Amino acid sequence: MKNKLKDIESILDEIPSLTSNLLTFAEKAASYYQYPIGEVINHFLTNDLKKARSYSFEMTEQRWLLNPESDLQLAGNATKQKKIMAWMQNSAQNSWGRDDIPSNFTKKDLSNLIEKKLLLECYVEKMPANFCAIEPSLPLNEQQQQVLDSIQQHLNTFHAHLLHGVTGSGKTELYLQIIESVQSQRGQVLVLVPEIGLTPQTTERFKRRFGPAIRTYHSNLNDTERRETWEHARRGLAHIVIGTRSALFANFKKLSLIIVDEEHDISFKQQDTFRYSARDMAILRAQLEDIPVVLGSATPSLESLHNCEKPIFSYHALTQRATKQPLPELVLTDIREQPLHEGLAPDTIARIEHHLSQQQQVLIFINRRGYAPVLMCHSCGWVAQCQRCDANYTIHMDPPHLHCHHCDHQRKIPTHCPDCKSHSLIHLGSGTERLLSATSQLFPEYKSIRIDRDSMKRKHQLQAELSAITDKEYDIVIGTQMLAKGHHFPHLTLVVILDIDQALFSYDFRGTERAFQLVSQVSGRAGREQQGGEVVIQTHQPDHFMLTALKKYQISQIYSQLLEERERLSYPPFGYLAVIRAESKYPQQALNFLNDIFASLEQIPQAQQTMHLMPPTPAPMEKRAGRYRANLLLQSRTRTHLHSVIKQLIPTIESKRAYNSVRWSIDIDPQDLL
Ligand code: ADP
Ligand code: ZN
Ligand code: ZN
Repeated sequence: MKNKLKDIESILDEIPSLTSNLLTFAEKAASYYQYPIGEVINHFLTNDLKKARSYSFEMTEQRWLLNPESDLQLAGNATKQKKIMAWMQNSAQNSWGRDDIPSNFTKKDLSNLIEKKLLLECYVEKMPANFCAIEPSLPLNEQQQQVLDSIQQHLNTFHAHLLHGVTGSGKTELYLQIIESVQSQRGQVLVLVPEIGLTPQTTERFKRRFGPAIRTYHSNLNDTERRETWEHARRGLAHIVIGTRSALFANFKKLSLIIVDEEHDISFKQQDTFRYSARDMAILRAQLEDIPVVLGSATPSLESLHNCEKPIFSYHALTQRATKQPLPELVLTDIREQPLHEGLAPDTIARIEHHLSQQQQVLIFINRRGYAPVLMCHSCGWVAQCQRCDANYTIHMDPPHLHCHHCDHQRKIPTHCPDCKSHSLIHLGSGTERLLSATSQLFPEYKSIRIDRDSMKRKHQLQAELSAITDKEYDIVIGTQMLAKGHHFPHLTLVVILDIDQALFSYDFRGTERAFQLVSQVSGRAGREQQGGEVVIQTHQPDHFMLTALKKYQISQIYSQLLEERERLSYPPFGYLAVIRAESKYPQQALNFLNDIFASLEQIPQAQQTMHLMPPTPAPMEKRAGRYRANLLLQSRTRTHLHSVIKQLIPTIESKRAYNSVRWSIDIDPQDLL
């Protein structure tokens, strides 16, 4: 052991990067997910710390302020600069750091204004920013007030709260006010959100309320920016950190509260390497730090709801929209045997027309980017399939190419069928691109925009387009999941949801739950202001229990049916799952490997007694990115048994050296079985 220890070459930082609390947290997380502690600790460090890059924390920061001596008027074409000036003049602060300024105002814009002497630049010492409410908080309605009072009773110790509030019920407003209460004790707050780039409006709202006290932490930041936030957190300079799942591992000087917004969201679960759930780990961290944690959602996960039935979580409900607007009316359009025009039923088209003629906006949601999901030969039935995956290529027209959405492989669109040489190749089904061309033809006098990962590639583009939608520069918005969450478009009154049927028949046991969450989230975008809203769901399954109950907003009925189903199958939250995933570039290898492991489970008496054992199966999409994949599902009624069996199994798995082409991993509490 002694000669394994190396000499200390230099000291990287005077303050330790990890506290003993964080180390305990890392150990518990590593043991829970059966993942090597060293790799887990990597998640607690920023890249430059890991690479031992030298870094010195700047004690001063650059700030901008309006030049009181300037009376220059900006020229008419300087619209962006005018926008910045107006924003600053309306702000309650009198100076702004980079983090206070909306990110679509770039450094270049600011230096232009400095050149014109409209702005001044200065450097000031970094201080724990004053926690000043820049925008006043709203007077809470009765339901909100009740929840706030109840949460305020448990601010000094660990307590988990589930805030179940319909879309627009004022959950965010409540988070803001809970934060204010914590602030009176000068503690720090961590707000976890699923994907920060998709909901810039939420971050902006926090900034308007709390100004310089906020920092963000997510993967779009470069190494230095991440380190900056990390330093601000551990030095206690940032009062609030809003971040995606990785922010959970940041070092805080005095963490006092964790909020997990959209707690049901699948992006809280890391899907490779260290497969942790940031929501579940947030609860563990809150427990270790002895602080409250608030999980919020319009469509909570079944796990969290179930925890409210045990005395683990407190349940709080907000059942009405804060603005007193009714929830939108849901229309189930039965499209069986209906003529569809590019996927739109005649009734849907008529409704779109109606809303547009009232000068209102329409959102068409389809969870598929590209032009069409299938390229087929009309003469012989050949289908363009990815060589590396068990999947079809998606046709894209902007720019034209075939794209495999599973391995990212791209190629040219063939001019003729490789099998029969016929030139009649047809496009089956629709994606966002095709819908955009359809709406542009159907409603030529209205302006349409497509929002998906392909069309929003440039930095800040999404944010700019979201504000353009808010300002009603577009009439029809076509979008994917990117538009489902958190957005508030005041003029949007109609939401059309296409292609939800396949989600209802997903082979994943969470399929219906996910479809319910998605439909609710998307529907929640409609009619958030004065004019009421309407949601059209096109379906071949108008009698599906989830849809019929949702139409009447009988949410508890949906939940009880889903829970009943899970209980019957001993699936979460009534049973516990882990998946051993294996893959190899050779067919059958992964499956053979897992069969071997399955056989060794027979040597573990505890496994025989306490688990529901099912032989391994090929993954639903067996071949992906050139690898053949298989899963071994481990299921038990109790978590301790599951974990103990896995612990006993790991040495066996590691000893299977004959399968050197096989890569394997263990996924505890998997979010999908794909
Ligand atoms: P959620 O996060 O549940 O979707 P928000 O907090 O975004 O809800 O609130 C939805 C809308 O209602 C926002 O425009 C917000 O300003 C407004 N709102 C929230 N709480 C109140 C309140 N107490 N009084 C008036 N308006 C409110
Ligand atoms: Zn052909
Ligand atoms: Zn592929």
